[in-house]
Amino acid sequence: MNYSCSRYELKCNECGKQFGNQPLSACPDCLAPLEVAYDLEAVRGIFTKENIAAGPANIWRYAALLPIPDGFQPDLPVGFTPLIRAKNLGLRIGATNLYIKNDAVCFPTLSFKDRVVSVALANARKFGFETVGCSSTGNLANSVAAQSARLGLKACILVPADLEQAKILNTQVYGARLVRIDGNYDHVNRLCTQIADEYAWGCRRLAHPQNPQSLQRTYLPRPRRRKTRPLLRSPGHRLLAHLRRS
Ligand SMILES: [Zn+2]
Repeated sequence: MNYSCSRYELKCNECGKQFGNQPLSACPDCLAPLEVAYDLEAVRGIFTKENIAAGPANIWRYAALLPIPDGFQPDLPVGFTPLIRAKNLGLRIGATNLYIKNDAVCFPTLSFKDRVVSVALANARKFGFETVGCSSTGNLANSVAAQSARLGLKACILVPADLEQAKILNTQVYGARLVRIDGNYDHVNRLCTQIADEYAWGCRRLAHPQNPQSLQRTYLPRPRRRKTRPLLRSPGHRLLAHLRRS
């Protein structure tokens, strides 16, 4: 399976071997993770401030630097969640202007995982997968289930057997097949990868090159002051870690 894309291809970040565009997450030669390498010269003319501002108020305004198929027509307004000023918390930690990115209102499943799943499933459809799967402890499962249902893909979600029911209620509401595995998350993740390889599932792997690319499109405004810096690029545990250090 392969499809050409004029703007990017997968490249091994160790040996530099290039793989075009196919459902691969690691280099078959050296087992290093693959990354998305963009043709920045080709993108330069379209990834402009003016074009981004004129785009829709969602992740797809950054489509020129997302690993999505040529001609992809998105129809889900994912991302572009608001920044909320956390005045009291800012006072407590000595930050003058502290803002928190509220991904709890991300569409469609109220999780930052909606971004990576929207990009991953765009590729899964282009590659011709009929079934997609993932291992999860909640948010990813719900997002894969919801977006698969919309795209007409079958979804099979593997979770640890002791996972709380409330975390995966949406997964079942959206009709995904849910399989509880007697093991921890690492066991579940490994098993999911093996099953996906055996039965040709589109597997949303944690380390897939599309994932960090999509997360980086989490919109954060450009810092206005030199000392300003974005802290949150993923779940809130980074903020907690920062508070503990400060
Ligand atoms: Zn390699």
